[in-house]
Amino acid sequence: MAKLNNKKIAIIGGGIGGLVVGYELIKKGYEVTVFEKEKEIGGLLADFKIEGENLEKVYHHIFKTDKEVIDLIEELGLQNKLKWHKSSIGLYYDGKMYPFLGAIDLLKFRGLGLIDKFRLGLVYLWLKFDGAWKKYENITAAEWMEKWAGKKAYEVIWKPLLKGKFHEYYQKVSMAWLWARIHTRGGSTNEKGEEVLGYLDDGFIQIINKLKEKVKIINKEIVNIKELEKKFDLVIDTRPIKNIDYIGAVDLVFSSNQSLSEYYWHNINDLKSPFLVMVQHNNLLKNGGYNGKNIYYLGTYVPQDHEYFKISDEKIEREWFDYLKKIKPEFDEKQVLEKKIFKFKNAQHIVGRKYKVPSYKVGEKTYRLNFAQIYPEDRGINFAVKEARKLVKMIEKDLTGR
Ligand SMILES: Cc1cc2nc3c(=O)[nH]c(=O)nc-3n(C[C@H](O)[C@H](O)[C@H](O)COP(=O)(O)OP(=O)(O)OC[C@H]3O[C@@H](n4cnc5c(N)ncnc54)[C@H](O)[C@@H]3O)c2cc1C
Repeated sequence: MAKLNNKKIAIIGGGIGGLVVGYELIKKGYEVTVFEKEKEIGGLLADFKIEGENLEKVYHHIFKTDKEVIDLIEELGLQNKLKWHKSSIGLYYDGKMYPFLGAIDLLKFRGLGLIDKFRLGLVYLWLKFDGAWKKYENITAAEWMEKWAGKKAYEVIWKPLLKGKFHEYYQKVSMAWLWARIHTRGGSTNEKGEEVLGYLDDGFIQIINKLKEKVKIINKEIVNIKELEKKFDLVIDTRPIKNIDYIGAVDLVFSSNQSLSEYYWHNINDLKSPFLVMVQHNNLLKNGGYNGKNIYYLGTYVPQDHEYFKISDEKIEREWFDYLKKIKPEFDEKQVLEKKIFKFKNAQHIVGRKYKVPSYKVGEKTYRLNFAQIYPEDRGINFAVKEARKLVKMIEKDLTGR
């Protein structure tokens, strides 16, 4: 491709956001270098090998409404690998796992009375179809849900999810954030109206690998941005933003001979549980991969000063496997084959009431791209692509006036 100009651009961070911005800038003729502090690129979307196959370190799927990442997958020639799978959800409550996808499951759920179930169903439908989200900005998810879904449904369903994910921040999270979670997901259905989730055969890492082929990467932690500002014409910083609160994520991934569930996703609505979700990944794919073994994630979000960031993996594993035995008494640790724990300190930002999106231009030569700018939607790979493309347009306009 002919070079439109020879400006040199540095990008700090080789997550999907940094890589897509780099790729888009290269397409426009700029010279791009990405600096990544870890040995491997990919950030939250990085992978590892389990049962000889690629797997994300933390569970990932996409929705039918994720147009930007679907478009990128096509552009990178990976469209034949993108498969849509029927979703299935379980809800663990009061010592029992319930199916929890759709109206019939809600009716069968024993944790709520009929009126509460009806209100909960209506609230879900309302949020699914209501596109006018601005009104949700000034109220917290906790307040809104308690008011409209009712106290009981809030206590049984929403509080454990909000508290499990956001800990001390749970009463601060904006309803705009929760609206976006439910609204986006509602559109991910097949022709029969069943929820479907997208996964790339052989893992989402292929997006990262394709981008890696196009972008120059240097493995280096950038501490002083000024150094880069001296050497490059522009710097794009994807590091966490100082005045934003982030929480971390910890998960235990393992393979086993044993199948523990018929569902893919399991919300653990039990505030005593050390993990918030259990994912049986192979139940989504049902393709016999991973040597025909069952692949699990146990995952949670924790504050950045949580002991999980200090204690050994063995201690976390002991605590979590013991709890898994409570939820699934048939769980047999001897059947576990491979296992690994992953910890990320900056996994999710806190979206409070009247959230102010952090600015994109932060210095004469410096722009910022971070998932904390995604709003009101929840951060995710689709929106990382969308934001990266938006930033490139902004930069082009600043540089060329067009
Ligand atoms: C538990 C969990 C489950 C998820 N599930 C889904 C899902 O199902 N679907 C979905 O779409 N999204 C999901 N996501 C979100 C998705 O993974 C992220 O939104 C996306 O990967 C973020 O990409 P990013 O580039 O914005 O940030 P990051 O991936 O955080 O990338 C930032 C990069 O910058 C690097 N860096 C930081 N500081 C420096 C420095 N000083 N010098 C150099 N490099 C530096 C980091 O190492 C990292 O590689 C999930 C996230 C988590 C935590």
